[in-house]
Amino acid sequence: MERKSVTPITLALVIPCFNEEDVLPETIKRLTLILDELVKYKNIHSDSKIIFVDDGSRDKTWGIIEEANIFNKYVQGLKLARNAGHQNALLAGLNYAKDFSDCVISIDADLQDDLAVIPKFIEEFNNGNDIVYGVRRGRSTDTFFKRTTAQGFYKLMNSMGVNIIYNHADYRLMSKRVLEHLGEFKEVNLFLRGLIPLIGYKSTEVYYDRNERFAGESKYPLKKMLAFAFDGITSFSVTPIRLISAIGFLMFLFSFFMAIYILINKFLGHTSSGWSSLMISIWFIGGIQLVALGFIGEYIGKIYREVKARPKYFIEKSTLNLPDQRNKEI
Ligand code: UDP
Ligand code: MG
Repeated sequence: MERKSVTPITLALVIPCFNEEDVLPETIKRLTLILDELVKYKNIHSDSKIIFVDDGSRDKTWGIIEEANIFNKYVQGLKLARNAGHQNALLAGLNYAKDFSDCVISIDADLQDDLAVIPKFIEEFNNGNDIVYGVRRGRSTDTFFKRTTAQGFYKLMNSMGVNIIYNHADYRLMSKRVLEHLGEFKEVNLFLRGLIPLIGYKSTEVYYDRNERFAGESKYPLKKMLAFAFDGITSFSVTPIRLISAIGFLMFLFSFFMAIYILINKFLGHTSSGWSSLMISIWFIGGIQLVALGFIGEYIGKIYREVKARPKYFIEKSTLNLPDQRNKEI
């Protein structure tokens, strides 16, 4: 159903930032320009906000946000007490934004996501979509390594029955009710791009070209990226455990045939000292057992963390609870 509202839509742009001092001034400038245009021409409420979540940065990120908050009527900041990670920082911003906005768009701080498609996101929201996924057209700006591993990851997730949108990261629009439902997921291991499709409602995709990082370095080094991918798989799928059972079953069948083969050889008197077969079996089975234990351990570790249900982040400071007395002009 089309949303034909005459009252303007209140929008919040949520941007998690970790050590982004190099890029932030430019990001603030560009987002402000876009929001200004939307307010002027696209029926977006002038109370809309750009919320920067400082994820425990150690550089001047928070200072830049605070200063922007003074001079720019749209900019608000949220400072987490420590580095809680991209997904948690994003969630902190979304939770804050949902109280006063009709819809929220999450964007990375580094200007990799093409801001020019934001009006299209809004258009799709007006067409009645509760979720609009920003999908990258290609991955030409990635290194060969990142491109292949990322593609492999999406394929693997889909083959295990996890519904994630191919080439969609965390650039998306969500309506207020989607954000409210998101709050009902209590899991500690957050993997938003897997959770959001689980919510449902009418959704669509908007395609864009991803740029290179505007400035600074990726805050996702290989180690973090692998941990994120592994988290994604084990948070959403028990396929690895089933796979282990399947391998175990095949091994059992194989050893059954091996036993027959060995017994036949024994009766024929072809037995050797048996050392090599013994060693191979020990290493082979030992290896498989260790892999299996590792996977099971991963799930147990997850249960351990979920059971503890530790808070995901702490907000140290925020510009949001300041009374909006300053009558700010951009
Ligand atoms: N980020 C964050 N906390 C972290 C790591 C990253 O808030 O611990 C933010 C970062 O500032 C950026 C977004 O998450 O806005 C995506 O990170 P990045 O661009 O470095 O990842 P990449 O695009 O290289 O995958
Ligand atoms: Mg990036």
